[in-house]
Amino acid sequence: MKVALIGVGQAGGKITERLVRFDADMGFGAVQGALAVNSAKQDLQSLEYVDTQLIGADRVNGHGVGGDNELGTEVMQSDIEQVLGSLDGRITSKAEALFVVAGLGGGTGSGGAPVLVHHLQRVYDVPVYALGVLPGRNEGVLYQANAGRSLKTLLREADSTLLIDNDAWHEQGESVEDAFETINDRIARRVGLLFAAGEAVEGVGESVVDSSEVINTLRTGGVATLGYATEVASEDSGENITTAMTVSRQALLTGASLPDATTADSALLVIAGQSDRIPRKGVEKARRWLEDETGSMQVRGGDFPLDSDRIGALVLLGGAERSDRVQKFMQRAQEANRAQETESADHAEQFADDRLENLF
Ligand code: GDP
Repeated sequence: MKVALIGVGQAGGKITERLVRFDADMGFGAVQGALAVNSAKQDLQSLEYVDTQLIGADRVNGHGVGGDNELGTEVMQSDIEQVLGSLDGRITSKAEALFVVAGLGGGTGSGGAPVLVHHLQRVYDVPVYALGVLPGRNEGVLYQANAGRSLKTLLREADSTLLIDNDAWHEQGESVEDAFETINDRIARRVGLLFAAGEAVEGVGESVVDSSEVINTLRTGGVATLGYATEVASEDSGENITTAMTVSRQALLTGASLPDATTADSALLVIAGQSDRIPRKGVEKARRWLEDETGSMQVRGGDFPLDSDRIGALVLLGGAERSDRVQKFMQRAQEANRAQETESADHAEQFADDRLENLF
């Protein structure tokens, strides 16, 4: 699937850059263009592989919006024409989808990404997706509240919002900074493989995935998740039947970008590896298992020929917002929002309205 990426805020810019590098290093050519947008000049200066656009200079003079995501919304709204102008020419007619990438707990990305998605929907005919990072449980109240409002608004604006939970893909005992490096690498590998898997590969079998399958899986809207796992493959495809099942199970149950999210409206199972090692029977079995597990009748499947001695499974879920994890997060965000309001509100107001508001 040919995509253009727009990273907003610090996390958005870093993850976009990783995706660009992964796609180039692997020689996939799925990423057609990329831009990083931020109100903090310093964060943009640390990026080497993507073009950048500063916003909000008249309001915050390149210093960022701190954790104020309402200000993030405002500066994106004020400078939207400049951002769209910078994208002109970077989003070619080849792009089949646009991804707006952001950490949802901060300021610029949290507040700016939903605005940008809204305007991209107006200008471009291709689907506009969000790739959003949810704060981990241990991040502060402000992050949770910001992410709640940002997610709510993204769900309204984007064709689908692929969520990565910051608690999902890091190692135990890592510092936060090291953890970000690890998580960003994992995001790049998994999401980068999904983009590449949607590229029709000429001259290879019929069961190869193409971009329409990714787009159709995401068509249900709402929250999307992505899981991934690999195992060493045998040279004999018959011996890989169990392996195909194992990696599919792991991808959904332990390797997902959002833990405990298995109920979905639609799913796509991509089995990656050397074509002659991919077991047809195993793939079919894993697809049926995924149907049972997600409760979805719309489970698509396909191969992704990849020169590797391993077999990998990528599981993309669409319409996964009913899952426990999303519900728990929204609860956490509402509590955080209430706690924040309580600090400044009088006692009567505390009980006035506990729901999250859209950002705009
Ligand atoms: P912004 O620049 O104002 O948009 O703020 P950030 O992008 O720093 O957003 C803060 C949120 O993103 C927090 O929840 C952080 O945990 C998360 N975050 C910041 N940097 C990274 C990163 O490099 N990787 C990941 N996965 N999350 C990050």
